[in-house]
Amino acid sequence: MRNYLIAGNWKMNKTPSEAVQLAKEILTLVKDSDYRVMVAPSFVCLPGVAEVLKGSNIIVAAQNMAGTEEGAFTGETSVLMLKDLAVDAVLLGHSERRHIYGESNEQINAKVKLALKHGMMPVLCIGELLEEREAGKAETVCFEQLEKGLAGVSEKELDNVVIAYEPVWAIGTGKTATPDDADAIHASCRKKIAEMYSAAAAEKMVIQYGGSMKPENIKELMAMENIDGGLIGGASLKADSFASLANFNK
Ligand code: PEP
Repeated sequence: MRNYLIAGNWKMNKTPSEAVQLAKEILTLVKDSDYRVMVAPSFVCLPGVAEVLKGSNIIVAAQNMAGTEEGAFTGETSVLMLKDLAVDAVLLGHSERRHIYGESNEQINAKVKLALKHGMMPVLCIGELLEEREAGKAETVCFEQLEKGLAGVSEKELDNVVIAYEPVWAIGTGKTATPDDADAIHASCRKKIAEMYSAAAAEKMVIQYGGSMKPENIKELMAMENIDGGLIGGASLKADSFASLANFNK
C-alpha cells in the first residue's frame, strides 16, 4: 500500500491564535491516525502551529513559497525561512495560485526544485478547468502540468514528491468528481509518471485527490485503486471534520 497522505489546506482562514487552537484540537484527535497527516496554515500562522505540532505525527506545510532563496522580492517567503520554522512540506501550483495569481508551470517547477534541494516535500497540485474537461482535455492539461512541473527532477528526488490532482471545478464548489472519474485521471497520471520515470516510480507515487472531499465522501474516493489521500480545503477547517477524514478507516 502507498503511504497515504491526508492534508488540510487552511487557505486564507484562521488568525494565528485561531490556528494554534485548531492545531491543538486536531493533534488530540488524529494522534492515532493510520496515515500521514498534514496541515497547511497561512504563513503568519506557521510559527505558532509548528510549535504546537513539534514532535507530533502531523506534518506542517506552507501553502506556497518563492522560487528563489533570498533577495529583493517584496512580499515573498523563502524556503530558508520555512526551513527555519521546521516546515517540512509545501503546496505548490495550487489552482488558486495558478488561476488567481497567474503562476506558470515554469515558476512552479522552479519552486519544486528549490523545495527538493532543501529537503522539503513539495505537493505538486495539478488539475483542469471545467471548460478544459468539457473539451476533453483533462488529461492533456494534467500531463503538461506534470511534465513541466517535474522538469529536471530526478527519479531519486521523486521519492519526496507528492502529486495532488484537484479538478478546478470541484474546489470549494461542493461538486466532487465521481470516484470513477477521479480514479481515471489518477490512473492516467500514474501511467504518465511511468513513461517519464519508471514503472517502479509510478507505483510508489502518492497521488492525492482534492475537490470538495469531506467525511461523507472520503471512503468511496479512498476505495479507488489510484487515490492515495486527500488535499482538503473547507472540510479541514474544523477539528472534528478533519479528524473524521484523517481517521476515515475507523
Ligand atoms: C483545496 O483547497 O485544495 C480544496 C480541494 O478545497 P475544497 O476541499 O474546499 O474543495
